[in-house]
Amino acid sequence: MLRSTFSRTFPQVLRFSACHFASIPAPNVQPDVHYNKIFINNEWHDAVSKKTFPTINPATEEIICHVAEGEQADVEKAVKAARDAFALGSPWRRMDASQRGHLLNKLADCIERDTAYLAELETLDNGKPYAISYCVDVPMVVKCLRYYAGWADKWEGKTIPVDGDYFSYTRHEPIGVCGQIIPWNFPLIMQAWKLGPALATGNTVVMKVAEQTPLTALYVASLIKEVGFPAGVVNIIPGMGPTAGAAIASHMDVNKIAFTGSTEVGHLIQRASSTSNLKKVTLELGGKSPNIILADANMEVAVEQAHMGLFFNQGQCCCAGSRTFVQEGIYDEFVERSAERAKRRTVGDPFDLSTEQGPQVDEEQFKKILGFIGSGKREGAKLLCGGSPAADRGFFIQPTVFGDVQDEMTIAREEIFGPVMQILKFRSLEEVIERANSSKYGLAAAVFTQNIDKANYIAHGLRAGTVWINCYNVFAVQSPFGGYKTSGIGRECGEYALENYTEVKSVILKVPQKNS
Ligand code: ADP
Repeated sequence: MLRSTFSRTFPQVLRFSACHFASIPAPNVQPDVHYNKIFINNEWHDAVSKKTFPTINPATEEIICHVAEGEQADVEKAVKAARDAFALGSPWRRMDASQRGHLLNKLADCIERDTAYLAELETLDNGKPYAISYCVDVPMVVKCLRYYAGWADKWEGKTIPVDGDYFSYTRHEPIGVCGQIIPWNFPLIMQAWKLGPALATGNTVVMKVAEQTPLTALYVASLIKEVGFPAGVVNIIPGMGPTAGAAIASHMDVNKIAFTGSTEVGHLIQRASSTSNLKKVTLELGGKSPNIILADANMEVAVEQAHMGLFFNQGQCCCAGSRTFVQEGIYDEFVERSAERAKRRTVGDPFDLSTEQGPQVDEEQFKKILGFIGSGKREGAKLLCGGSPAADRGFFIQPTVFGDVQDEMTIAREEIFGPVMQILKFRSLEEVIERANSSKYGLAAAVFTQNIDKANYIAHGLRAGTVWINCYNVFAVQSPFGGYKTSGIGRECGEYALENYTEVKSVILKVPQKNS
């Protein structure tokens, strides 16, 4: 399927020799980027400790290059730069909101210009199929930045009729220095989801990128400088979570933190805020999303969408539909067709355009997923296909499907974050809503049916931040995304995300009613 689509979309993709970093085609403009340094104040710095760490190509397990390892001392430098850039009267604070929007649009233009380069870099570092990096990830980044560019001069306050001889209006002001910590599954998209609303509303940023996938964020840093954001507005630190990440989360001069990652670390971020300066916290965390297939669903659509809803991005999506509930009348056929589809999934070299599934991001995830597969077998789920590594080299895992999964099994409760599908049987709508909701998570869900009343009944009964009806993984920057319960706090994307990045100030003036 991919081959025919993509051979029409772009004529030639440079074949990639994965161990040669220098073989990535150079972008049109020579970028000022240093992959072994930290980006602070629009300049490239060594880590204060001079430490570096390797970033690995998960398809070959070879080192791509060494990256600066930022720690607390680097975070101090970055926060100071961000604070200075936020000072009253600074170029950034004096800049018209429309000009902030213009800079975001220019950034989007540069990213679009360098799509092929960024897509290759993303695939090299993360392992996701190049076709996806090129056709999904980078275009989503461009759309996101343009969307928030549009908001920059439209995020308006109110005028409020107050009692007495007074007049009140509100201002939506930037919060200040925002710490942003992002994960490795969608490195470019996560960066854009965080930068877009923060910069549109006039904040400054200290961003820690995931240690598994630091490269594309550093390239985007060079574009931030190229388009003319003032020094210190965006600072990008590669480094580890417990050092650089924790230093941002507990910093007394960071006013807000936005985190995307595991629920476990989400708890630490919330705690760090409460024991430091009560910085505002937004969290986008884990999930165990139910995907509910009713007996009247279009079988072909449901099988394909449930497949993509789980296996997309090597199963490394916080919203993956990892509990597929199927109504009893169609259960056997659905299970059989889902296993067939998974067996047809093409796994291999992510730079091959026919590849649907690349490697998992690193050895830790690879081992963790194989551990979950082992627990599924031990606890009595029926392994229908896959279940093993898919290659001798690289972190590839066979697309795996389990049938006869029971609610209490580990694979039905824990987030696996890999290409492992769980299929469960249900009878009634009430039953499935209750079982779907009996999870500590509440990020996303889906329902497949041709009956609109049943679709809405289920959609309204589910405790999840997003419910898809007859589709899955449909993301639009205009629509908010975030979690109920331990899946998070706050919403990303859409107008809602702007609230996460602004303080509301009431200004109240005396307005005498009589001319005295
Ligand atoms: P995953 O398990 O999927 O790697 P994590 O929650 O561990 O997810 O990581 C998401 C991001 O959070 C990464 O950038 C990581 O470095 C960072 N991180 C991990 N531990 C901490 C921590 N203790 N404090 C702050 N950030 C952290």
